[in-house]
Amino acid sequence: MKGQGVGEVWQAGEVIGVAVTESFGRSLGPVLDYRAPEGGCALGDFVEVPLGPRKILGVVWGVGVGGIDPAKLRAVGRVLDVPPMRDEMRSFLTRAADYTLTPLSAMLRLATRAPGLDSPPSTRRVYRLGAGDPARATEARTKVLEVLRDYGGLSFTLAELAAQAGVTTSVIKGLVTSGVVLEEDAPRDVPYPRLDPDAVVVRLAGDQIGAGDALVASVALGGFSATLLKGVTGSGKTEVYLEAVAECLRAGRQALVLLPEIALTSEFLTRVEARFGARPAEWHSGVTMTERRRLWRMAANGGAQFVAGARSALFLPFQDLGLIVVDEEHDSSYKQEEGVIYNARDMAVLRAAICGSAIVLASATPSLESWVNAATGKYGRLDLGARFGVAEMPDMRAIDMRAEKLPSTRWISPTLEREVAKRVAAGEQSLIFLNRRGYAPVTLCRACGEQVGCTDCDARMVEHRFLNRLMCHQCGATRAMPEVCPSCQVAGKMAPVGPGVERLAEEVVALFPDARVAVLSSDLFGSARALKEQIEAIAAGAADIIIGTQIVAKGHNFPLLTLVGVIDADLGLTGSDLRAAERTFQLMRQVAGRAGRADKPGVAMMQTFQPEHPVIRAILGGDEEAFWQAEAEERRVAGVPPYGRMAGIILSGPEVGPVFELGAELARRDGPLRAIGAQVFGPAPAPIARVRGRHRVRLLVKADKGVALQAAISAWVAQVRLPNNVRLAVDIDPQSFL
Ligand code: ADP
Ligand code: ZN
Repeated sequence: MKGQGVGEVWQAGEVIGVAVTESFGRSLGPVLDYRAPEGGCALGDFVEVPLGPRKILGVVWGVGVGGIDPAKLRAVGRVLDVPPMRDEMRSFLTRAADYTLTPLSAMLRLATRAPGLDSPPSTRRVYRLGAGDPARATEARTKVLEVLRDYGGLSFTLAELAAQAGVTTSVIKGLVTSGVVLEEDAPRDVPYPRLDPDAVVVRLAGDQIGAGDALVASVALGGFSATLLKGVTGSGKTEVYLEAVAECLRAGRQALVLLPEIALTSEFLTRVEARFGARPAEWHSGVTMTERRRLWRMAANGGAQFVAGARSALFLPFQDLGLIVVDEEHDSSYKQEEGVIYNARDMAVLRAAICGSAIVLASATPSLESWVNAATGKYGRLDLGARFGVAEMPDMRAIDMRAEKLPSTRWISPTLEREVAKRVAAGEQSLIFLNRRGYAPVTLCRACGEQVGCTDCDARMVEHRFLNRLMCHQCGATRAMPEVCPSCQVAGKMAPVGPGVERLAEEVVALFPDARVAVLSSDLFGSARALKEQIEAIAAGAADIIIGTQIVAKGHNFPLLTLVGVIDADLGLTGSDLRAAERTFQLMRQVAGRAGRADKPGVAMMQTFQPEHPVIRAILGGDEEAFWQAEAEERRVAGVPPYGRMAGIILSGPEVGPVFELGAELARRDGPLRAIGAQVFGPAPAPIARVRGRHRVRLLVKADKGVALQAAISAWVAQVRLPNNVRLAVDIDPQSFL
């Protein structure tokens, strides 16, 4: 365990450097000079400092930078009552900022995203489950009790509980009067329930034994190690890495498991509770402010042993982090594409290296980067071969759509239809997969050919019958379905083209009028909780045919499912995206992994017009290593990541002219890039050239591995002055080319 060390301390009036959480352009650096406050301060202290007329949050970063007459410096307002930021966190933020070319102030904001940092611990009025049932169980009352039961143990403030349950506060007050809900004053920020690493003895089996031993050993050793844990869905990856978590808990260190989706978190929490006797602390966008405040502090003082969270949990101030697990490490949601652009998986590896923690990257279909890192020995690799128990990987087949006869307004081939019919007759479940939300991706005027687009983005609007509106999947804008063509003014000619899951559902209902059909698409559920409930009901057998988008591909367990039909396996094969093949491969493998989880074998069938395409063949053949090798070789020859380096520059502004001019100027003044042998491509309109009314222009920088890319890009962009309203964002290691 790394200690905080004897931090430097400054007496009142001495000049110190404070990293602040707001940026003031390039003229001021990220660390500003102040005088230490009355009573002095220490390295890492969270402080409130005056800046202009305001007070902002900062962290004592070191000695002052100097250069300003100390007599003119203002003093730190006060030192906040929270544990100081640790050395390792400061170096993590510095290095993450340097790597992503993000201002330190913005990185620091990610690390201080907890409410009430500036208010001292105290008590507050909270509500929790009492005894008995309400005299009259109204829907609103039941809802409140459900929320309290669902979040077992956690307490809520009145406002939080009302919001979470969707009821008025008077409903809760009523329940308090009858004693069903308890109202009490509780100290804020109490530690989380202790977890018992040995609450349950798990017997690993087969490959799991060696993998578990290896992970436990690296955690016990205590330093940095990185391991790729690869195994098909259901092979026991979670079971294995929870053993590493157990070892981490035994060592008295903290563990962090990152998960890509809120929907997964609840399933996961229950499972952890069964294994360790208590739930881990949760961190994601659905967590209340009160709990965030508590978790931030408990991470800092050791009162949270185990945190399960979304990507931003990586910025919690852990006291002694022994293990990080990145589950579903290939998932694209780890890449934050707006604001601070970073890849949580990569930053997790950086954090583990700095903190001396073990890191486990778990996936059935790892990213090519991780696969290569394991192949070159940078990471260890553990493989779980078979699925746990009797379940086997499904049999995978292609349906050659060139040989199937079906009208242009239908998408389910006769072959797939027959297979679904067999499952319905046998009482088994089928999943029909289409990665397209909504009813129809295009709305076309049959008179003039106009396709309805978003007024603010260069994107077509997608019909959502469920909402009875058209929606832009880029900016979320919606509008009513036009009766009259917006272009030629002819009425009654607007028609949907192509399928989305909602339209597919109509086809399924028409083909199987007696089957129970469920559609799983993220936009059809008001909340993650509603989605989770639906998923649980389906898993328990509440549907015969499930129609779903990619949300079904992510780790849910459907034991009765024996058939997966992929409507358009070609979707995604033809992108300009460098990762198109990799993504398609991963998605198809994950979807296929849904079939045959319990004791019945599964079949996955993919409708394709290109059964001989190398990606489709690799999926069907199940020869993953061959797929990765071929894909890696193609990237190596092209000199693209992970064999070369790339960065995207996105310029955006309200007028297209100045944005393009700036792009052209950058392309001309490429001296700093040429100095490291890098090339610049563009400017070109970004694939979605307009988003929310802003025009977007893109440049792409390509360099050899091992060059100082970030320094060159900084020097390069520093040459130009950004006109008002024009923003420049740098995306190091771009994932998508949007
Ligand atoms: P993955 O994370 O690879 O999808 P899981 O860890 O979720 O796999 O395992 C799949 C299922 O098999 C789970 O229900 C899990 O509880 C069960 N399982 C896996 N390994 C074991 C084991 N050694 N003992 C008991 N149950 C196991
Ligand atoms: Zn739009």
